[in-house]
Amino acid sequence: MHVKPTQQDVLTEREMRTVEDERQRVLAVVRGRCPKCAGELVPVPYRGVERDTCSRCQGVWLDFGELDQMLAEGTGFLGSIRRIFT
Ligand SMILES: [Zn+2]
Repeated sequence: MHVKPTQQDVLTEREMRTVEDERQRVLAVVRGRCPKCAGELVPVPYRGVERDTCSRCQGVWLDFGELDQMLAEGTGFLGSIRRIFT
């Protein structure tokens, strides 16, 4: 972070905005928003697991438990990933 010597104790307006952007980005995840584009996450059923899928960028966001559940099934593409990592 670049701070001018005369403003060591005060964040510039631009820096404040960056901090606020980052804070909003983190909060967006908590509120069920896409961390990538802040689009609305929609639960989409997939193999008995509800995956949060972004309605805007189609990104898929999983909880750890959800990923484990899918890997535990060990089939198809996800199964092959598990074979790589275990
Ligand atoms: Zn998104």
